[in-house]
Amino acid sequence: MPRPVPTTPALTQADVRAQAAACPDLESLAAAVSRCEACGLARTRTQTVFMDGARTGACKSGLLFVGEAPGADEDRQGVPFVGRAGQLLTEIITKGIGIPREDVQIANVLKCRPPENRDPTSAEKEVCTPWLERQIELTSPRVIVPLGKHAANYHLGLPPETPMGATRGRTHVRKGRMLIPTYHPAYLLRSPGEKKACWQDIQVAMNVLGIAKAPRKGQTKPSS
Ligand code: SF4
Repeated sequence: MPRPVPTTPALTQADVRAQAAACPDLESLAAAVSRCEACGLARTRTQTVFMDGARTGACKSGLLFVGEAPGADEDRQGVPFVGRAGQLLTEIITKGIGIPREDVQIANVLKCRPPENRDPTSAEKEVCTPWLERQIELTSPRVIVPLGKHAANYHLGLPPETPMGATRGRTHVRKGRMLIPTYHPAYLLRSPGEKKACWQDIQVAMNVLGIAKAPRKGQTKPSS
């Protein structure tokens, strides 16, 4: 039986924002997140899932992927996107974009797993997102790719149930950041016919970042 999760957060968004603002770098932010008990998910998580990729500031590519929340594999390992959906994201990065996974940064809107992988509640998102906002300040990505409607709608300030069709297929600028929403890899596993549309979104991100298309098998990458 899953343990019940209190629905009212113990801290307010302003409390968490103040804690996040006091962290001067990603390591101190990760440590503060690991201690966070601001909402009820602290009682059911195995551990917090902060991010993957460079912890020193900006990453090599300038690209940040943001998903919705950790799943069971991520909760166990403490790293985002390591399950089946994570393997597909890794393929998108390494085979599609043609760069190592370590050259991008990967995070989630929520830092703790919702029980049974249910959707995050509005209260959980409200209280947790100052951690992500500070993470974005400290990593300063050139392009953010929200994965799935929850991440896209959070970044764009839209109602949570706004469909992906309303946001993907174009670039957005919000709070000075370029956003290119695309489908969540878990959705692509269920709907492989949408991989082509995802690849189009990724190519837009690559163009913005000046990343050359990975050569096909048998071709050599053109020298710059
Ligand atoms: S989900 Fe976010 S706000 Fe809730 S306990 Fe985890 S880190 Fe804290």
